[in-house]
Amino acid sequence: MERIERARRDVVIANRILAHQKVLDAYGHVSLRHPDDPQKYLLARSCSPGMVRTSDIVEFWLDGRPVSPETRPLYMERYIHGAVYERRPDVKAVLHSHAEDVLPFAISKTTRLRPVIQAVGDMGHDVPVWDIADRFGDDTNLLVLNMEQGRDLAACLACNRMALMRGHGFVAAGASVFDLVRLAVYVPRNARVLMAAMRMGEHRGLSKGEIDARLALDPDSPAMRRGWEFWAQEAGCDDLLAD
Ligand SMILES: [Zn+2]
Repeated sequence: MERIERARRDVVIANRILAHQKVLDAYGHVSLRHPDDPQKYLLARSCSPGMVRTSDIVEFWLDGRPVSPETRPLYMERYIHGAVYERRPDVKAVLHSHAEDVLPFAISKTTRLRPVIQAVGDMGHDVPVWDIADRFGDDTNLLVLNMEQGRDLAACLACNRMALMRGHGFVAAGASVFDLVRLAVYVPRNARVLMAAMRMGEHRGLSKGEIDARLALDPDSPAMRRGWEFWAQEAGCDDLLAD
């Protein structure tokens, strides 16, 4: 199978998994950097992630223009993806989600999201919060609608795995689509565990050394990729796994 066809199928699988796991719902999107041209990325046309098929995958330049003429509606917030790929050559997959469990941490003035369970230790040491109002004023619709806003978000993400978006959602980056999907499945679970622990009183998250140890793991090792195949089967798209 050609690399581009494999990549298209992987974008579909990622969409289906993240919809089935409720990281995405009718909204939000996941993309993959083009396997043969780092100046392009693959993202579905505007449709709900749980319904994405390979024929829905569109190639984009990093500035958000489709590579070929496209008459179908496109995601308004696609600029998030190109801006992250532009700033981070190490990133091969990008997710934008509105997962509800994460949202309290995107508006809290006192509590930051941080890893408290081992599966998501590679969330990293810092999860910055991007506030669109800081640079674009308090009368936007909160959506990322152009490259200027996307680049400002990518600058906040900087070298981290993910950044929260105030009153909106989050963006996450992966070294591969498998790496990104595994992290993304556990991010809302980590948020739920942290919220529950906070209600119980004092708690203890991962230490700096524990986070470093998780970050040192190979994100594409067979053990780390095990979830990809399991979740693909659960989402009913294991037929797309075969080469
Ligand atoms: Zn959004």
